[in-house]
Order: sequence, then C-alpha cells, then structure tokens
Amino acid sequence: MARYTGAVCRQCRREGMKLFLKGERCYTDKCGISRRSYAPGQHGQGRKKTSEYGLQLRAKQMAKRYYGVLESQFRKYYEMAERKEGKTGEQLLAILESRLDNVVYRLGWASSHAEARQFVSHGHFTINGKKVDIPSYLCKPGEVISFGEKSRGIERFKNIIASNSARPVPKWLEVNNEALEGRVLSVAERADIELTVDETLIVELYSK
Ligand code: SF4
Repeated sequence: MARYTGAVCRQCRREGMKLFLKGERCYTDKCGISRRSYAPGQHGQGRKKTSEYGLQLRAKQMAKRYYGVLESQFRKYYEMAERKEGKTGEQLLAILESRLDNVVYRLGWASSHAEARQFVSHGHFTINGKKVDIPSYLCKPGEVISFGEKSRGIERFKNIIASNSARPVPKWLEVNNEALEGRVLSVAERADIELTVDETLIVELYSK
C-alpha cells in the first residue's frame, strides 16, 4: 500500500494548520507548527500572496494529507462523490470520513489517522463480526466495528482508549468502550466534520 513517507510535521506547516498526524505529540508544545508556524523550505517565510489555483491546490492537499490519502485514490473518491446526489464537496468529505481508518480514529481507538491505519492493516478490527484489514474500506450506516477477539485484551489499546476518552465522538457514530464496539449511525454531515477545509475549492480544482 503506497503512503507518504516524508517528514510528517512539514505537511502541517505547509498547510498552515494542525492536521493532527502524530497523535499525542500534536497536543504538546513539541508540535512542529507551534514551534515554527511558517511554511517549510527556503522560501517558507517569504511570499504570502496565493493565486486562485494555489488556494484550490492547498485545499486539496490539506484534505489529502489530513486523511492520509494519495492522489489517485483521492481522485477516485472525487469521482464517486460526483456521481452522488447533493453537493460534490460535501459528498467527498463524507466518503473520506467513512473510511475504516478514519472511523477507528473518530471512535477514539487510535491517536492519529496513521496509527489507525496501522491498527486496521494489522487486522485488529471486525465489521459485523468479520475481520476487515483494509484501511480504505468504506463503512456504511448500521455497520458495527469491534476489536477482534485476540485484540481485546491488548494493554496498548486500553491505554489509547483511556487517553482519548475526552475526545468527542461525532454524532454519526456511537461508541461503547466497555463492549469495545462502535456503530455507524448515519452518513457524516458537513457540520459534523472537523476539518476546516473549504471543500468547494477542491471541486473547482477538479472541475477545470
Ligand atoms: Fe502537525 Fe501533529 Fe506535527 Fe503538530 S505535531 S505539526 S499537529 S503532525
């Protein structure tokens, strides 16, 4: 599975906002963007004016980086969103939110998208009782996500769940940390998605 392997904090600095890619470190004063709030590279502190295309590109890059999705897959999600009824940008974000790795992160069972992706790939979860180890699996309303039998007693998961318990779970999901079960209640609506990207810019970029 292809994935970004460069310096993680550079991505936040490039987008000028916290993308919470490193888990607990993101909430400490070691956060890269807290220490150096300008773009990376030689010209990072230089020119600020951005063209219309530049804004559209940044919006797309921000969403891609936030969800940890590479270009080809992101484009596929956009094409899926275009075929759905409603606003394409909102449909795109709803598809990205429904990825299994994102659902695991939203349930508070991982401290970052990258960690969630690793846990899913290692086969720690089931959906409606069947093991699913594909991070890009798109969860549907009514599906129940659980820890697999062998993963339930792992101390690391208990610690992660405890440390993330204050993080709010979006209203399109329901979690029962006693039973180690989560349920998808509905499709994510725009108001429930915390990413502050302007998704209409992404639609403008791909519509050219
Ligand atoms: Fe982004 Fe987290 Fe790095 Fe801060 S610590 S720059 S939020 S990945």
